[in-house]
Amino acid sequence: MNEIPIIENVLKLNDDVAADNRRRLNELGVFTIDLIGSPGCGKTTLLEQTLRRLSGEYNIGVIVGDLATTRDAARLHRWCEHIVQINTDRGCHLEAHQIRRALDRLDVERLDILIIENVGNLICPVGFDLGQDVKVGMFSVTEGDDKAAKHPHLVCLADLILLNKVDLAGAVLFDEAQFNSDVARLNAEVPVMKIDAVHGRVDPWLEWLRNSGLSHRHTMTEAMLG
Ligand code: MG
Ligand code: ZN
Repeated sequence: MNEIPIIENVLKLNDDVAADNRRRLNELGVFTIDLIGSPGCGKTTLLEQTLRRLSGEYNIGVIVGDLATTRDAARLHRWCEHIVQINTDRGCHLEAHQIRRALDRLDVERLDILIIENVGNLICPVGFDLGQDVKVGMFSVTEGDDKAAKHPHLVCLADLILLNKVDLAGAVLFDEAQFNSDVARLNAEVPVMKIDAVHGRVDPWLEWLRNSGLSHRHTMTEAMLG
């Protein structure tokens, strides 16, 4: 009998902490992304390319969530000093209180952009607000062309969809028209960007990040000036 109220309280608490995170990050003008994708879809590879290409232009911080190991943090640390690894042990998603603690370990005041690489999982990360400005849903062709249709909540809530490993589409018989029509049916607004992170073909994403980050900071400055 007590199960349902307890679960609701957990989510309510998460939302309160997420709202605090959002307020803090917005006040500092940090554009924050929650990057959600399955294990092996290329999230960390994308972030390596992003840091390699943009770290001269922007101060970028990364919070990376995994059950175990600091391997992703070590890969990213080669390009950037603002990295925090969260090990969730059995936890299959990140929660707002973990982000709040990670923010205390980062030099947040200096950041322009914060990217949160969520635990590899297409399901429950979608339900936990972290205080981000946008959610990015990442798929790769090797997972199959049905994954957008099978994960409608992520597609519906995503501000951007990335489709990675497009160089392998032919080898795995990926039906791009099917994938695109599933995305469009679920979320008519969301842009879909094809990328090949391992070979550094990520220009549309970098352009989106530049434009979104800049317009975000512009909006924040206007809001502060009243
Ligand atoms: Mg990773
Ligand atoms: Zn979970």
